[in-house]
Amino acid sequence: MATFKELGLEANLLQAVTDMGFETPSEVQEKTIPILLEQESDLVALAQTGTGKTAAFGFPMLQKIDVDSRTTQGLILSPTRELCLQITNEMNSYGKHLKGLNVTAIYGGASITEQARQIKRGAQIIVATPGRMKDMIGRKMIDISKIQYCVLDEADEMLNMGFYEDITEILSYSPKDKSTWLFSATMPKEVATIAKKFMHKPIEVTVGSKNVGSSQVSHEYYVVGARDRYQALKRLADANPDIFSVVFCRTKRDTQKVAEQLIADGYNAGAIHGDLSQNQRDIVMKQFRTRQIQMLVATDVAARGIDVDDITHVINYQLPDEIETYTHRSGRTGRAGKTGVSMVIVTKSEARKIRQIEKIIQKQFEAKEIPSGMEICE
Ligand code: ADP
Ligand code: MG
Repeated sequence: MATFKELGLEANLLQAVTDMGFETPSEVQEKTIPILLEQESDLVALAQTGTGKTAAFGFPMLQKIDVDSRTTQGLILSPTRELCLQITNEMNSYGKHLKGLNVTAIYGGASITEQARQIKRGAQIIVATPGRMKDMIGRKMIDISKIQYCVLDEADEMLNMGFYEDITEILSYSPKDKSTWLFSATMPKEVATIAKKFMHKPIEVTVGSKNVGSSQVSHEYYVVGARDRYQALKRLADANPDIFSVVFCRTKRDTQKVAEQLIADGYNAGAIHGDLSQNQRDIVMKQFRTRQIQMLVATDVAARGIDVDDITHVINYQLPDEIETYTHRSGRTGRAGKTGVSMVIVTKSEARKIRQIEKIIQKQFEAKEIPSGMEICE
């Protein structure tokens, strides 16, 4: 197995690797970092959640940009505000020994004038959500005519969220000869289309489903009657008193309803979804991080940015519409070498979807019974 040094990273970045406690590169890092450092080509990398993609593009970008210049040289597009902030934090940690580095996050729901002010100070790297980025370029608050590197992170998710047009418009303001690096967990045809449209003979890298630190997620499903879903959720929570979990629902309405029911029934629960204000979301996330909330009920979109360690269970209260989304959900647990359980509550008629998911994740589910009241009391 290679070391970070062997991948070609410079001393100040290697120092940050040590500071972060990274021992060996993950598979996606081992496969992409040398290519991105050595070549000025486009790249498509497919790797699941939790495989260390941020560092895979972050280190090469940091090594290649000129921190003595104030020009914006790198752009990272990412689907949600939470992810933007997370990537910005990671980039600052990786680049903490690079003097003069300025990484700026650009996202909706916060003051545009304040963000414009930050950009004016000279950000070599911008991490942005497509919507706000498009606005700010249109208002001439941001100039990306000199960028050399552009990352499309979580490309599948950005396209799912309908950002295709925004991305197209943003890229039309960027130079043709830049390098584009696309990272995605899955490769639906929309991603293939975007790769074709914006990239020139990209190098393709695919890695297995092994997470950083070879974490372990086991998959279980529980068949219940259509009216017993909520009861089943409570039983699963009762059977796991130390649970620290994300509970996925399909709609914002169900998310809110399930969280409210749980709270009324005495559980430490909270909801996160797009109808909440940014401020409410920040409060809920803080309560979750500090374990005041043990069960965070979430929509897929809102959960996208959650990188909280030590999540013990992912509960699929309802299966997602797109079965590929299951990968993103279950990737919330079992991170960094920990074990985790991904549970699915299904009705009899939905149970066939389990077989389809097994094909995608290339793992078998265990069929289990909802624990009875007696078992929980024991
Ligand atoms: P992805 O974008 O693929 O979902 P992230 O980049 O968010 O994954 O990384 C997941 C977690 O793994 C982060 O907490 C990150 O700090 C950590 N990580 C990344 N690379 C390594 C490594 N080589 N060794 C140990 N931990 C790592
Ligand atoms: Mg990521």
